[in-house]
Amino acid sequence: MMIKGKTASEGYAVGKAIRLEKETIRAEKQGCDSIEACLKAFREALEKSREEIKTIQKQAEDRLGSEQAEIFGAHLEMLDDPEIRKQVEAMIENDQVTAAYAYQTITDQYIQMFEQMEDEYFRGRAADIKDIQQRVLAHLLGKEVKDLSLLEEDTIVVAKDLTPSDTAGLDLDKVKGFITESGGRTSHTAIIARALGLPAIVGANGALEAIEDNQRVFLNASDNEIVVDPGKKTLERARSLVREQEKERERLKAYADRKTKTMNGKGIPLYANIGSDKELDPVLENGAEGVGLFRTEFLFMDQPAMPDEERQIQAYERVFEKLSPVIVRTLDIGGDKDLPYLEQPKEANPFLGRRAIRLTLEEESLFQTQLRALLRAARNQRDVRIMFPMVATEKELDAALEALERARRSLDEEGYEYQTNIKVGIMIEIPAAALNARRLAEKVHFFSIGTNDLIQYLFAADRMNESVAYLYQPLDTTLLRLIKHVVDEAHAEQTEVGVCGEIAGDLDAALLLAGIGVDELSMSPASILRIREALARIDSTDLERLSDAVLAEHSPQTAKEIVQAFRRKHLEG
Ligand code: PEP
Ligand code: MG
Repeated sequence: MMIKGKTASEGYAVGKAIRLEKETIRAEKQGCDSIEACLKAFREALEKSREEIKTIQKQAEDRLGSEQAEIFGAHLEMLDDPEIRKQVEAMIENDQVTAAYAYQTITDQYIQMFEQMEDEYFRGRAADIKDIQQRVLAHLLGKEVKDLSLLEEDTIVVAKDLTPSDTAGLDLDKVKGFITESGGRTSHTAIIARALGLPAIVGANGALEAIEDNQRVFLNASDNEIVVDPGKKTLERARSLVREQEKERERLKAYADRKTKTMNGKGIPLYANIGSDKELDPVLENGAEGVGLFRTEFLFMDQPAMPDEERQIQAYERVFEKLSPVIVRTLDIGGDKDLPYLEQPKEANPFLGRRAIRLTLEEESLFQTQLRALLRAARNQRDVRIMFPMVATEKELDAALEALERARRSLDEEGYEYQTNIKVGIMIEIPAAALNARRLAEKVHFFSIGTNDLIQYLFAADRMNESVAYLYQPLDTTLLRLIKHVVDEAHAEQTEVGVCGEIAGDLDAALLLAGIGVDELSMSPASILRIREALARIDSTDLERLSDAVLAEHSPQTAKEIVQAFRRKHLEG
């Protein structure tokens, strides 16, 4: 059987399917025949859960570091909370109900209580108790808990959607690819897959229905095909494609230690997009020349509450120590990126609402904590740059720059050491900002064009909505003309321009962006080496000619043909 979707990250994988369905386990009210047996079942379920959490904790420590593993220490404490235990046992004895029902009732009360608390930190605890509740109930009711941190063989994860916190617990040695039912190419699932260098198909309607657990799957993300239970011939072909893929990876390794230059020596640094310090391994392996977009909101998504200034400093330092330059973006919360512990009023159009800089300008303490942490974490670093997301107007930029000034002043007053010479830039991802590039450029050191949102707002096409995905064309000449406008205006003010939207990692688009005169490209690490190899084989003057030819066209189809002919001439054979 074959399923189609949308390629989010190219590549091939063969593995056993695991369906990640987030259904909540609930226990029915049932009487308990033998109180002794029910109490025993309760103790055993706690014991099994304890062992499981300990194993995950150990793995998280090995793979992700002790800070990420801390959360499991907190889970263990909650699991063994004597008060909860006493109340559950009393309920089994007094009400003569099953352990599952008693445990559910008591923990539900705690969940509710925490959910209603004012303090964000305590509200975050509700999610932890729920997590533990589900684990214990699964044991009591004989349901399987799918633990993606304890996989035994090559696995393809099939899910409705994956959040960054879902992927945080994955055993990345064993996960070979992702299939999700929702999401488009620029959804965050897609971005994560590319960050990890794993093949992924998103928008695969009906995948959860069609694929069973443990079924073998050939995930052919390069041709947008999912083959369930492949026959012998297909499997042979699949395995040979996986081997080819390995060979290409080997060939490209030669480029990992080089700087990116065109054949005639023009440097175009290729940076990596990251969401956390956990993604640094692929960034370093693929020889990124820096980080062009550090999405800090991802860093805080799997935390129970917003980390304070000191903890943020530690998280930033882990990245700043390893790479330079690092362009770190202030929080871009809103749209499809919610922080569970930050309460936001419901909006009819979140992508057009109180998002990113609009939100942080109103949440002074949230913003100040981050700005102070960034300035302090950068104190001994060569090149850390701060970037504000979703700036639409000069007024917003002025307000953001004032906020940064306030952060500096407060650090001065308190006598903290910090980076006094930090470069500041903005994302260009709203058409109004693109059109007003000249005046904005006067006030900042750099721009980074976020095409994921720029396309969304330029074409009025929701980046998450499958049915308008056809409007997402990296080679759209209207988009490219707007980018050229931004580049020319910025350069007139000696402001540098990068592109950090997903198109930067698309080889065809990367060639055009280089031709247009973009100064740097920032992408998923997995795309870097292929683009570095290609640029090394072409003269910058040929790239300019290519982009001129494409910009003179109006149809994306003709644009594609021009680029394909160019690639045949310069890169193939
Ligand atoms: C963009 O909009 O292109 C971008 C890089 O930001 P994000 O995908 O995080 O919105
Ligand atoms: Mg954006």
